Amino acid sequence: MFLPQEIIRKKRDGQTLTDSEIQFFVQGITHNSVTEGQIAALAMAVFFNGMTMPERIALTCAMRDSGSVLDWSELDLPGPVLDKHSTGGVGDVVSLMLGPMVAACGGYVPMISGRGLGHTGGTLDKFDAIPGYQTTPLNAIFKKVVKEVGVAIIGQTSDLAPADKRFYATRDVTATVESIPLITASILSKKLAAGLEALVMDVKVGSGAFMPTYEQSEALAKSIVAVANGAGCRTTALLTDMNQVLATSAGNAVEVREAVRYLTGEYRHPRLHEVTMALCAEMLISGGLASDEAQARQKLQQVLDNGKAAETFARMVFALGGPADFVQNYDNHLQKAEIIRPVYAQSSGIITGMDTRALGMAVVALGGGRLRAADLIDHAVGLTDVISLGAQADKDVPLAWVHARTEAQYEQTAAVIRNAIRVGDNAVTPSPAIYRRITLADV
Ligand code: URA
Repeated sequence: MFLPQEIIRKKRDGQTLTDSEIQFFVQGITHNSVTEGQIAALAMAVFFNGMTMPERIALTCAMRDSGSVLDWSELDLPGPVLDKHSTGGVGDVVSLMLGPMVAACGGYVPMISGRGLGHTGGTLDKFDAIPGYQTTPLNAIFKKVVKEVGVAIIGQTSDLAPADKRFYATRDVTATVESIPLITASILSKKLAAGLEALVMDVKVGSGAFMPTYEQSEALAKSIVAVANGAGCRTTALLTDMNQVLATSAGNAVEVREAVRYLTGEYRHPRLHEVTMALCAEMLISGGLASDEAQARQKLQQVLDNGKAAETFARMVFALGGPADFVQNYDNHLQKAEIIRPVYAQSSGIITGMDTRALGMAVVALGGGRLRAADLIDHAVGLTDVISLGAQADKDVPLAWVHARTEAQYEQTAAVIRNAIRVGDNAVTPSPAIYRRITLADV
């Protein structure tokens, strides 16, 4: 029998907690037998004193086990159960293509995604832009779609890692979100509750990233790789660039449109393609579906070229309540804003920098994102044709197109875009799309 205040005191004094102490505290969070004040105090003690890797593993597993953990063994799936998680970005539409691509290569992807908050978009909000698509199906339907289609992208249910919900809510209002051990356990408890065999983590770096510096993004990636593997899930991470919008669009319906065009081959933005292929390849290798990167890429290219990836996306959308002809007729099904108009730079020049966070916040201001969890979303608004770093902007090539509801919104967004995208005279070398790969050997 432990006392919460003794566990807090131990961590406050810089000592290491045992697995049983951590399990006791997490059970207390789940069952309301520790108070909000005690959760806040422990979070602050961890914020200042950190946690060893074994402590982080114990915290992650205890939080994962605070609710139901999916078990896929009863379905006898003929392939590995795999997923990806991203720390979030602007125009990060990767999940919409990656799930179907990996499924088309023989993986099973039960992707439990979140909604957007602040400047980053959320996969679930994007799917909500598809009429009829059920983001919270019954568990039996979720499992059926994963088994029959190979992928189902849905929202978090309340019985998935409930300890994280309470823990995070307290961290959010006590300035204790920015703790690598706590972020690691928060992200992984939810992902590992999906019963995965392997996971790839996309940790963003740059002006639109959740972590403020390269070093902190790298430290988070290493922590996640060490802890996930320690908890029994084969995991690698890629550090990828968020110094510019990843896709050409940012918003909800506009990103769904870009995802479909990518899958059908209508248009594949090179940076988005690079990041998507690299993350998919990690999943195929970790899942034993490819022996190396070259083989993984060849398989992925094949399912893009032969239409299997696009078909898998179409089947998932239909199985979860969306239109049967969504891939063929996406433009008829996606909402459009009243005003769709370009924004030009004040003077011609080369794009030398981008405040990606500000562009994400411009989408929020249009109504396409949320500042509070309860805010409603306008799926039609957003940005498209966002210019890339190093490109030339002039009277023919705009910085972006704005999709807005009103003239006033358009003018306001245009001003934000002109401020956020820097135009200069000298050529620049944009940061690479992928900085580095992190495996268990690196941590
Ligand atoms: N995302 C999460 O899910 N948890 C954190 O703690 C931070 C980001």
